[in-house]
Amino acid sequence: MFLDVKELALHKLRLHQSYAPGAVDYHTHDFRQIDPLEVRATAEMVDCQIRISGELHTRVEMACARCLEPVAEEVARDFDLYYRPMQSISREEEFRLKLDDTEIAFFEGDGLFLTDVLAEQVLLAIPMKIICRCDCKGLCPHCGANLNSDECRCESHSGDSRMAPLARLKQDWFKKQ
Ligand SMILES: [Zn+2]
Ligand SMILES: [Zn+2]
Repeated sequence: MFLDVKELALHKLRLHQSYAPGAVDYHTHDFRQIDPLEVRATAEMVDCQIRISGELHTRVEMACARCLEPVAEEVARDFDLYYRPMQSISREEEFRLKLDDTEIAFFEGDGLFLTDVLAEQVLLAIPMKIICRCDCKGLCPHCGANLNSDECRCESHSGDSRMAPLARLKQDWFKKQ
């Protein structure tokens, strides 16, 4: 859905949209949307800026940071965003904005795509890391076994792996004697 400034200048838009998984491109493989993305918002022109405010919610699936098993996560976010027209700022101002204000967003041309706005908001709502449960044991760093469900025999075969290089060193030293 394209939010056109000419249309918004005439009247405020009330939006109630639902985007099926796959309809919004998040440009990342870190998670995938598994429920519809539901959005209720209003879009309007305020002092020549596009204002979009409302809320979204969906559910995503991402890998547990420890064991890499998929975990479903609720995502919800309220937003109140202003987009300034790109051509309204001077080069000097553009430079200053880059330095100290990353909160201000822009649109180019006749408006912006609602899905671009939503994709950004979902990305901001996604946690950096997620674990499947607080006591997730993760993967064995040697054989890759999922220690929550699989039995790993690394331990019993090689003893404490941190001591292995030291043990080898000792063997070499004895051989030389
Ligand atoms: Zn896990
Ligand atoms: Zn192992």
